[in-house]
Amino acid sequence: MVSEVGNQLAELTSRLVQIDSVNPPGDVTKVVEFIKNWLSERGFSSSIYEYVKGKPNLIARVGKGKPVIILNGHTDVVPPGDLSKWTYPPFSGRIIEGKVYGRGSTDMKGGVAVIMMVFAELGPLIEKKGTGSLVFSATADEEVGGHAGVEALVKDNVLAGDAAIVAEPTGFDKYCIAEKGLSQVKLIARGRPAHGSLPLLGDNAIMKLIKAIEKAQDTVNEINRGIKLPQDLIEAINNSSRVYLEGALRSGLKLSEDDFRHTIGSVSFNPGVIKGGSKVNMVPDYAELELDMRVPPGVSPSNVIDKLRNTLSGLAEVKVLDTSEPNYTPSSERIIQLIREGIGKQGAEAKPIIMTGATDGRYLRLKGIPTVIYGPGELTLAHTYDEYVTVKDLVNTYNTIKYTVEKYLGLRQ
Ligand SMILES: [Zn+2]
Repeated sequence: MVSEVGNQLAELTSRLVQIDSVNPPGDVTKVVEFIKNWLSERGFSSSIYEYVKGKPNLIARVGKGKPVIILNGHTDVVPPGDLSKWTYPPFSGRIIEGKVYGRGSTDMKGGVAVIMMVFAELGPLIEKKGTGSLVFSATADEEVGGHAGVEALVKDNVLAGDAAIVAEPTGFDKYCIAEKGLSQVKLIARGRPAHGSLPLLGDNAIMKLIKAIEKAQDTVNEINRGIKLPQDLIEAINNSSRVYLEGALRSGLKLSEDDFRHTIGSVSFNPGVIKGGSKVNMVPDYAELELDMRVPPGVSPSNVIDKLRNTLSGLAEVKVLDTSEPNYTPSSERIIQLIREGIGKQGAEAKPIIMTGATDGRYLRLKGIPTVIYGPGELTLAHTYDEYVTVKDLVNTYNTIKYTVEKYLGLRQ
């Protein structure tokens, strides 16, 4: 049987899904209008911050003073892809047998619906007798990096607080305490051209690049042997490994939990693009590789690059393409403790996880705000066909987040 709050959450998620906010182009104006009206009908005012036209961010606050707890969700979604692969049209928001279907149901209009409901439910109470403030933020641009969304708001100090919950999909009994960072580089090998029939006259850039790739992998392996992780992060890596393993087994891959543990808990190594040479009968004088490495908390992305520069000197240049810092909120933080308690209250065992990709949570963490990623849906359903969120997950995460905010702002002993 679905509860009253379950019906409301399903209905609200469905209405949000029905508003197309595909990114690119990432125009979320209509979703933000809907949220603004929805809040206003319940007596809450909100402010709009639009750093890039068509990508407005909405912020609403209740209460006053510290501590400040932030609820955050993004309003953009990824494109639906091949429409013929959807059982129900991606923007139908169909509610069937305890599930809401459609693009963004899991990532993350379900999460936005949950935090809207928590804000509306607790707002009046916080105004009357809470200690501190609750900030609701619906932000743009996450699916393409969050630059016009959370990054800009944090930089502007518009989004600031003492703790934050980002309601990205983790499923109701899991919560995310960390995200890997990123070191993406280009290795460039240069040689000397010659006729292909007399290769000894040249210096083959492709052969140099192959040696450089092997050395780069050795260097990363050596960095990985030296990684030491705190206990709660090891637990998070183990839990995430199980989640990814289930998905891999379903698609018929023969992998073990240890394989995932190793990849998630260390610097991963993926040569993604290779180019070089111009003709079969010429010794190539140029070859390049684009290399993607994901870096766990405790390892510095620029350190990895410095080490590569050292070991590859003479073989290949190392050019930086992109870096971002790994980030982590320790389990000793109050926000993490409260989320754990909230999950526990509903009879489940709370499990920390780590994400291999990035969310907007990184901008909050890098600003020093203890942040937990926690919301309805399953990460493995994000960006897939027939994406859905269960009403049960909506209700359970709603209960956990509501509990956390109540405790955090002194509304509950
Ligand atoms: Zn998302």
